Amino acid sequence: MAQGKRNSLEDFWKYVVKDGPIPAHKPELGCCWTWTGTIDKSQGYAYFSCAGERLAAHRVAYELVKGPIPPDKQIDHLCRNRACPRPSHFEAVTRRVNILRGESPFAVNRRKKKCINGHPLSGRNLQIRVREGQERRQCRKCMRELSKKHIRLRSEMLRARRLEREAALERGVSGGEK
Ligand SMILES: [Zn+2]
Ligand SMILES: [Zn+2]
Repeated sequence: MAQGKRNSLEDFWKYVVKDGPIPAHKPELGCCWTWTGTIDKSQGYAYFSCAGERLAAHRVAYELVKGPIPPDKQIDHLCRNRACPRPSHFEAVTRRVNILRGESPFAVNRRKKKCINGHPLSGRNLQIRVREGQERRQCRKCMRELSKKHIRLRSEMLRARRLEREAALERGVSGGEK
């Protein structure tokens, strides 16, 4: 549907079709709704043009149904479908919570319960390091294995170098005798 510049807030629901996919990770939410108006291709958010302004559709939907968004809160899409305008799929959360729930490598790592080798990332096995302001959660067991491996590799390398040096010396000695 073409979006009229003269839309008023009452026109908002004309752009909504209740036929979207059911979120695989949270089927209990029920189906997403489809926004037939503008969708930003790079970010994936739906926009509603109203009174000459371009408004984020999920924010409008939230405010129409649930009331004003507190100034310190952001809207988190529980369905992870940024273009979805279904108010029951949103929650107003702090910026920090929104980031932690997101899909950034940091957030994904933060939610991990196990390391890639299946060891628990909790209790004494969880090792938290902060580097350049970024928190890193590491598996103590794997880190120990890794450092053992490094030590072994290093001693193998030193041994190889020593043998090489000895061989070179022997060559040098036998070469000199000729
Ligand atoms: Zn949704
Ligand atoms: Zn591990």
